[in-house]
Amino acid sequence: MAATDLRFLYPHFANKLRDRLSVLRGEIRAALLRGDTETYGELAGQVHDVDEESLADLLTDVNLAGISREVQEVRDSDAALRRITAGTYGECVDCGEQIDPARLEAYPTAKRCLACQRAYESQPAAKSPPKL
Ligand SMILES: [Zn+2]
Repeated sequence: MAATDLRFLYPHFANKLRDRLSVLRGEIRAALLRGDTETYGELAGQVHDVDEESLADLLTDVNLAGISREVQEVRDSDAALRRITAGTYGECVDCGEQIDPARLEAYPTAKRCLACQRAYESQPAAKSPPKL
């Protein structure tokens, strides 16, 4: 399948990613609001005002307990949207082949085709926690 076929689906995946970012932003904001320190409150105010792209920047150096998974997903979703803009979305970063659209439907932030993802996860290095 030619890579151009997938580009017809770019708007679809962009919408999915933006919807997901919107949900994540709400979850992160709620988590920040549950905190009672000044820092949390200050961050929560910023989270309320910034757009999705700035949110990822805002959270770059933040690793708050309990929301690191959401923060990571915001980063992954933001990176996926940038790949859509760059026209490289849906290309496996390891082998360069097009990722199965069904896989992208299930995992819109996927960077690898299934075969490369399995190979990646079977490497011992992949078992250590990701560097944030
Ligand atoms: Zn691959």
